[in-house]
Amino acid sequence: MTARTVVIAGGSRGIGGEVAMRRALAGDRVIVGCREKGARAHRLSEQVVAAGGRALDVRVGDLRSAAVRRELLRGVDRVDVLVLAASGGMEQGCGERDALALNRDALVALVEESLPRMAHGGVIVYLTSHQAHFSRDVAPEPEYALVAATKRAAEDALQALGGRIAAAGARVVTVSADVVVDSATTRLMERLRPGSTDARRAQVGTLPTTADVAGAVTDAIENPRPNAAIVYHGGARWFLEQRQASCPRIRRIAGEPICAVGLVRAVRDHLEGRGITASDRVLVCDASTPETALVLLAVIATGASVVVLDPGSPAVEVADIAERTRCSAAVSSLPLAAVPRLLDLGAAEALVTSADAPPDCACDGSAESILHPWADRVDGLLLWTSGSSGRPRGVVRSGMSVLENVRATVGAMRYRADDVLLPLLPISHQYGLSLVIAWWLSGCTLVLGNHRRPVQTLVSARALGVTVVDAAPPVIEDVLGAIEERGIDDVALRVRMWCVGGSPLRPSLARRFHQVTGHVLLDGYGSTELGNVALATLEHPEGLGLPLPGVDVVVRHADGSPASSGEIGELWVRSAYSFSATIGDDRPTEMSRGWFRTGDLGAIDDRGVLRVIGRAGAVHRGGFTVYVSGIESRADEAGVPATVIALPDERRGAHLTAFIEDDGSTRSRWSDRLRSALPPQEWPNRVVVLPRLPRLGNGKVDRARLTREAEDGRKLARKGAARAGS
Ligand SMILES: [Zn+2]
Repeated sequence: MTARTVVIAGGSRGIGGEVAMRRALAGDRVIVGCREKGARAHRLSEQVVAAGGRALDVRVGDLRSAAVRRELLRGVDRVDVLVLAASGGMEQGCGERDALALNRDALVALVEESLPRMAHGGVIVYLTSHQAHFSRDVAPEPEYALVAATKRAAEDALQALGGRIAAAGARVVTVSADVVVDSATTRLMERLRPGSTDARRAQVGTLPTTADVAGAVTDAIENPRPNAAIVYHGGARWFLEQRQASCPRIRRIAGEPICAVGLVRAVRDHLEGRGITASDRVLVCDASTPETALVLLAVIATGASVVVLDPGSPAVEVADIAERTRCSAAVSSLPLAAVPRLLDLGAAEALVTSADAPPDCACDGSAESILHPWADRVDGLLLWTSGSSGRPRGVVRSGMSVLENVRATVGAMRYRADDVLLPLLPISHQYGLSLVIAWWLSGCTLVLGNHRRPVQTLVSARALGVTVVDAAPPVIEDVLGAIEERGIDDVALRVRMWCVGGSPLRPSLARRFHQVTGHVLLDGYGSTELGNVALATLEHPEGLGLPLPGVDVVVRHADGSPASSGEIGELWVRSAYSFSATIGDDRPTEMSRGWFRTGDLGAIDDRGVLRVIGRAGAVHRGGFTVYVSGIESRADEAGVPATVIALPDERRGAHLTAFIEDDGSTRSRWSDRLRSALPPQEWPNRVVVLPRLPRLGNGKVDRARLTREAEDGRKLARKGAARAGS
């Protein structure tokens, strides 16, 4: 075989060095890139030459620099083999940004720059560790967590380049190895955590050496494997078993976590026994308990269409919706027997009790496939939304769009099998429902308590090892109050992700939360119509993060022209997971050529990060166009938590009332602060201070009630003015 050109990033030592030596001894032209340790690489080269091989071509420099990558590829017009063995991030003081740049961005850039000179039949070998490869399912050692997460991010990025790599006539192979006994990383780990190597050996038997893994890399180079293949070397079975053992577990606050697969299957069988088939439509309207979550999944597993309603809805409305949507059966604690042609299945709790569930885990790794029949239903899910006008409307989404949207969510949020999710919100709305399905797809643990008493629920769940909390902003506000009072350790011990959504998050609350807890609130943006749109993640915590894969978001001015980066306008969304129809709504559709006008106001910065400030609702005032949510956002920045209600006004265009929740400070002080925070065209006509603003069941401010108060207030003021004038 003719000599090949082998480029090795990270080839001065360890596995990269061993591969370099072997290839050079075999007569290949080997170019070795190393961050430092040039002297070591030269010594390696001397050894190779002494043994009769070709000298290594050593090129030193940090691959994060484009100039260094150019230098590594200088004079190379054909690459047969590219080995990505460089890795870092265990150094003290290395932050997430550094680790990502080192472990992912530099290597991805190198691959992209190598593609034009990749030989037909060439191979790219990415070297990783089991701890990194499986880090989403099995938690790595804490000392290695940053390296693991960023190496896994690199693996994902390389997989995503698979199409381009194949188009260049090459292939990428990932070689994943267990703890390598004689590697520098293992020595460092052993120093940080004495005994860790032995502990690992006890789990898997023997551990590989540098030479073993170099052999696996050589094998991946010599023997063709399919593009994007993963080669496991040593001990992967233990990780695979850990992953398979991770069934979706569910628990009450008082109670043990139990595998839910057997339960869902049993309830599904029970429902089928009572005549429910894939052509039915089933109403689920019950409290946000573990039983309701199980029944929801069981209905989905029958392949039926499911209508989910908040049990707080008036019974008449529930009966009306059940009839209008032609439901054939209902799961509810409400008396629905009077609805014609509706099979009353009773409450979720009784259904779960009467199902014949196995006492133990009945998992065979099939949790996900149980939901597959539902994917085919074009009307898989019907949810009700009140919208800002207050008229309820049904939103229809296909099973596929819901499942794919949640899958994208799980991918973005990186839920792990060892996560314990505690949603402090109802599961009858899109946010909570998507968490239930996310729990199922990621195979972690779900805790459901009383979301109407969120702080108490969180504190009671403290000992359960909750790692992910989700709540609406007003609940986060209450939780933060409790944390300030009692300290975070007494409220929530192990939470790694604090997530918020459902309504716009005031910047002041986000800031205060970060100051007090040290955690970033991860905000999310979604809707009943579109599902989840954009989510802030630990990787991209700013604003509302980046739109999910499959979702495009643009910002447009009122006249439809596109806004520039950072500029505020209305958000238009085009989503692969969008709704397919609406029910009981004669409003004109917001869809235009696949784009959905959200009616929300926001901006996208030059990194693609989304921000939302509130409902668009523009009003005109003294020749200016002002946005109510814009006023609220500016006031909040200045430390004034105002809810602004705009009433039409013939003379001025809009009459503005600012409501402020406060039981101490005087009205005039707030009024002064608002005036100094806002431009004159946004000054409110009235400022009303209330000890507590009226709120809806979900914790949001009751704007309809405030609107009535604003109207009453204006009438009184007019009468007063008339009397004063007479
Ligand atoms: Zn199980």
